[in-house]
Amino acid sequence: MTIPLIDQLADASLLKEQAYIGGRWVDAQSNNTFDVVDPATQKIIARVADLGAAETAQAIELADTAMREWRAKAPKQRSDILERWYQLIVDNTEDLAIIMSAEQGKMLAESRGEIAYSASFIKWFAEEGKRVYGDVISSAQTDRRGITIKQAIGVVAAITPWNFPSAMITRKVAPALAVGCAVVLKPAAETPLSALALAELAHRAELPAGLLNIITGVDAVAIGGELTSNKRVKKLTFTGSTPVGKLLMAQCANTVKRTSMELGGNAPIVIFDDADLDLVMPGIINAKFRNSGQTCISANRILVQKGIYDTFIARLQDAASTFNFGTYSDGNSTHGPLITQTAVDNVDAKVQHAVAQGANLVCGGEKNDSTGYFYPATILTDLTREMAIFNEEIFGPVAAIYPFDTEQQAIDMSNDTPFGLAAYVYTESMRRSWRVAEALEYGMVGVNETAISAETVPFGGVKESGQGREGSKYGLDDYLEIKYICFGSMDK
Ligand code: ADP
Repeated sequence: MTIPLIDQLADASLLKEQAYIGGRWVDAQSNNTFDVVDPATQKIIARVADLGAAETAQAIELADTAMREWRAKAPKQRSDILERWYQLIVDNTEDLAIIMSAEQGKMLAESRGEIAYSASFIKWFAEEGKRVYGDVISSAQTDRRGITIKQAIGVVAAITPWNFPSAMITRKVAPALAVGCAVVLKPAAETPLSALALAELAHRAELPAGLLNIITGVDAVAIGGELTSNKRVKKLTFTGSTPVGKLLMAQCANTVKRTSMELGGNAPIVIFDDADLDLVMPGIINAKFRNSGQTCISANRILVQKGIYDTFIARLQDAASTFNFGTYSDGNSTHGPLITQTAVDNVDAKVQHAVAQGANLVCGGEKNDSTGYFYPATILTDLTREMAIFNEEIFGPVAAIYPFDTEQQAIDMSNDTPFGLAAYVYTESMRRSWRVAEALEYGMVGVNETAISAETVPFGGVKESGQGREGSKYGLDDYLEIKYICFGSMDK
């Protein structure tokens, strides 16, 4: 028998079912709720307030008001509050990890890792927020002096996905708050509990009311419509699929809002003959099977040079045969479920289509009808760029392997996609690693490494994978406006 989520927590008050607006916990105006389901057991674990456009508009108004005092504070005052929030998250890691695993399905070790990663953005931006600089500009005229200052952009709308229910929030909210913005955030309806737990800890850290608002709800179109049309919102930051990102950008055009977009990927991992397979194997397991393949930087196309092709496949099959899919709470699983039955059906359809087009199925590839949204570790080989799967983001534990002959062929295949988020290269040649990394049209390239993300480095894509960078010294830029001030008549 599974223990109810609330009884698994040391601090039951971290499990919230109401939305968080203007520093208060609120129900939907309609009093409606929606179910949050554990994808491993299909059990309902919470019933969360189902808000819509009206509550979103109210939150935006409160955010706009709260921001006026917040932006006037010294950066250090904002930083102190963010530091407290960071510490509370660290102190409550275990409960936050349990909440995340229960609603998202990932293993506890992965959830603990995500909480640490999530908290790291708050600590980083608490510091970076103190380091916002302007310029003194050499003047074109003798009687003028010019300077620039950077100011908080205004109320920020944020829309986040379910695959990283905590980290995708903090890497938007922390820089926004650090520079003086207020945030209205819509988490994915599949995983609202992690967002609400973060809000509870922000509340305990005494973040002033109205600066962080969590709008939970299933009507993404209504909430998103308000966030993108409301004139008080000056910026939208979104992580999710490319089609929704494009739609939101179009919606934002009407009020000329700034947008940052972290969208889909189609990451290649290029493994050359000279690669050290002892490095490749943990790298590929991380890049392909972490979060059961549900990450936007997952190794979506595995390109393997022909000299090590067979050895690589045999070793990958050995590794995959040790995976144990199950629930986070059973203690002996290595991998979790997918997020929904629809996700399982979509992944399976891609696999079956590839097989119909001539792919070789090495293992997996079969849905089972047991409880939970599970899909087995699957290996497809002998794929070609003509097959549909070459252009699809798989978002599941399916290794899609393509043979190649030459370096140029690997580069051409890698770049043959509208996406450009992450790419990986395994080679022992320093010259080749530079050459290939420079030729890849991607925002991020991992050389002999797939765990490339951290709060200190810029995360983001090119082409249809998005715009803007999160984390790093660049992560504040998306929340700041540059103002030029001209001092005239300086010779009087
Ligand atoms: P995924 O395939 O990862 O679920 P989505 O882009 O559908 O990607 O979802 C990412 C986030 O975008 C979620 O919070 C979802 O609710 C939200 N979303 C989806 N459709 C819309 C929309 N039309 N307007 C605003 N938000 C949306």
